[in-house]
Amino acid sequence: MPDLYEVLQVESKASSSEIKKAYRKLALKYHPDKVSEEDREEAEIKFKEISSAYEVLIDEGRREEYDLYGTTDGSGGVPNFSGDPFEAFNSGQEYGAEDFFNFFDGFGGQPQGAPKVNRTEDAQLDVKITLEDLYNGKTIKITSTRNIICTHCQGTGAKKKAVHKKCGRCDGEGTVRKIRRVGPGLVTQDFTDCTSCKGTGKIYRTKDKCKTCEGDKTIEETKILEFEILKGSPSTDTIVLEHESDEYPGKETGDVRLTYDCQEHAVFERKGDDLYTKYKIPLADALCGFTKNMVKHLDGRVISVPIPKGKVIRPGDYIKLKNEGMPIKNQSKSWFGSSNKNGDLYIEMEIEFPQDNWFLEKNDIFKVKNLFPNELLNKNDINKQRIDENSSSEANIDMVTDFSIVQEKNLPEYQSNDDNDDDDAYRYGKDTGAGPQAECTTQ
Ligand SMILES: [Zn+2]
Ligand SMILES: [Zn+2]
Repeated sequence: MPDLYEVLQVESKASSSEIKKAYRKLALKYHPDKVSEEDREEAEIKFKEISSAYEVLIDEGRREEYDLYGTTDGSGGVPNFSGDPFEAFNSGQEYGAEDFFNFFDGFGGQPQGAPKVNRTEDAQLDVKITLEDLYNGKTIKITSTRNIICTHCQGTGAKKKAVHKKCGRCDGEGTVRKIRRVGPGLVTQDFTDCTSCKGTGKIYRTKDKCKTCEGDKTIEETKILEFEILKGSPSTDTIVLEHESDEYPGKETGDVRLTYDCQEHAVFERKGDDLYTKYKIPLADALCGFTKNMVKHLDGRVISVPIPKGKVIRPGDYIKLKNEGMPIKNQSKSWFGSSNKNGDLYIEMEIEFPQDNWFLEKNDIFKVKNLFPNELLNKNDINKQRIDENSSSEANIDMVTDFSIVQEKNLPEYQSNDDNDDDDAYRYGKDTGAGPQAECTTQ
């Protein structure tokens, strides 16, 4: 028997949709109607091979059997070596001596410390929340329908005086061993609950089964689960309600886990416990001061900020509002009394300059020009760019009228071509997030 995974050109861990996809692709390629006359015979053989490999691998039960025994002739239970004991393995793959050893080991003698599956599966929920939720706190309520141990039979699944017999499938062990192929030439053994006796090793007659749970040992319970997201919680986290998953006799009950993730906010950006937002003002306000309702906060308050007359707001300035950031979740009380309850709110000021030809009358220009200082404040700045007027003769001055005003974002992009420095730049940039790389990047 050829290796069915190889025939379909898929990995041994391929999902059924990957198998389907691979099959469709190959079936299309080798379909006898799609090839020329001389290739037909070969294509027919290949097509049959693909189809039968697909039939096995797409059928969960048959695939499992194939993974276990390398064949699907329904022999079940015991590996079928059909004469040559190695034939089942020699399907074009290489198996080392160790693999044989492991394989046979799995069938012989007592299981070595058989890890009984002793915990029911955790349930996982994923939800999106808002920054408002994190600011104000939120309780997420979820209706949970789970299995709990039958209250009537206490999880035996049988009537009080019922007599059981040993389960034949697992020989009363409750678990069955399974050999699983984990890759070419590699097998591993798992222990799973016996499905016939549901892991108890006991079998009851129908008339002895508990009427409440019909022998299932568990019944359904519906309840409300509450997940509390505290004020100021991190932007993504997992809340665990222990032992709220399905119950099962003899097993520890798994947890219900809720993972939340905060969506991006239209107004605020959260950095640690601080909040950031932007606010745009006209140049006149930046020069003259103002009182404005600048932002609607996450609890619905409208925050008004009075900037005093004469206070100049400059490009790159932020207005910092103390204690108006996110609530701090884990507050450690300082020895000196009040610790901050919240982070801070930073409002980045954007200043809108007037459009060209903003003046109403030419006279306005002179008025404004006379209002503002005509010299730079810092003497060093003046010295740096001053051209010595005395040394530049009239004939030396070239009036260039062909200019345009370009914004930074519209400047040309340059590729750095100092290849020698690339190594260093990579090292600094990646490992420390600082260094030459960081200085060179243009944003
Ligand atoms: Zn019951
Ligand atoms: Zn059993």
